[in-house]
Amino acid sequence: MKHVISIDDFNIQQLERLFRLTDQIRQSPEQYASSLAGKVIATLFYEPSTRTRLSFEAAIQRLGGKVISTENARELSSAVKGERLEDTIRVVEGYSDAIVLRHYEDQAAEIAAEVAQVPVINAGSGAKEHPTQALLDLYTIYSIKGKIDGLTYVVSGDLRYGRTVHSLVKKLAHYSNVRIYGLSRPELALPQEYVEYLKQRGVSYSSCISFDDVPSTVDVIYHTRTQLERMGTNGKEIAEIIIDQQVMNRFGENTILMHPLPRNQEIAMEVDEDQRAVYFQQSRNGMYVRMALLHTLFER
Ligand code: ASP
Repeated sequence: MKHVISIDDFNIQQLERLFRLTDQIRQSPEQYASSLAGKVIATLFYEPSTRTRLSFEAAIQRLGGKVISTENARELSSAVKGERLEDTIRVVEGYSDAIVLRHYEDQAAEIAAEVAQVPVINAGSGAKEHPTQALLDLYTIYSIKGKIDGLTYVVSGDLRYGRTVHSLVKKLAHYSNVRIYGLSRPELALPQEYVEYLKQRGVSYSSCISFDDVPSTVDVIYHTRTQLERMGTNGKEIAEIIIDQQVMNRFGENTILMHPLPRNQEIAMEVDEDQRAVYFQQSRNGMYVRMALLHTLFER
């Protein structure tokens, strides 16, 4: 039995296999229509979600499995009555073959995995990790660019509280010849532990404050939303870094613009028409990557 708690749970070979399988599933989904036959998977979400929960649930159903779900466990589950996460997990595992968990605490997925007898899949834990988002982000880069090695990346927006950025940069550090620019307001800079990790792995990381500081030839811009829900009212005083068409015009035709979504105003709507904006394609890839992940998890 394998849990998926962190992006560190995947090595590069496993990612390559997963991405090849994702390609196959996208091409011939019908071949996988009964991969999860007879399985019941629980989605247990203590924080809001559109893409992650619905793409997991669509993935489960497309693989022939069934879903039980609590989409607002923070308010509508027995958490309100004071039930501990460990107890909830022990109960839900009795009804299901795997648990997809999103929680506002950084350590929640680890805590759940410690007590669970069925696989726990981390669907976002506090500001710490969002491993399946990193899988779909990396898959999107691989499918558009044909490689992940040797590229130049800008991660921008909220690098401090953005869990998708944390999972992504941790894994990018395992590819060779990667260069990363971290563009944010000083208050939202990438925490030192990630900067150190990148340094240790020999990745060239530069933090900057403007798109003028990054070369126009960057391969990938990964922009993110200010995670206001993790910083209370203080966050509202931090000016958003906005990407509009004028910013996009600075970059070459091969620069792609990604975003985990949801977006607020940090990417102007006008940019959606730009061929290089791939965030909706990225979110669609989420379902296929999660199908590949679930298929792999239950493969005999
Ligand atoms: N949907 C992503 C997450 O759950 C990104 C975001 O919310 O900004 O972390």
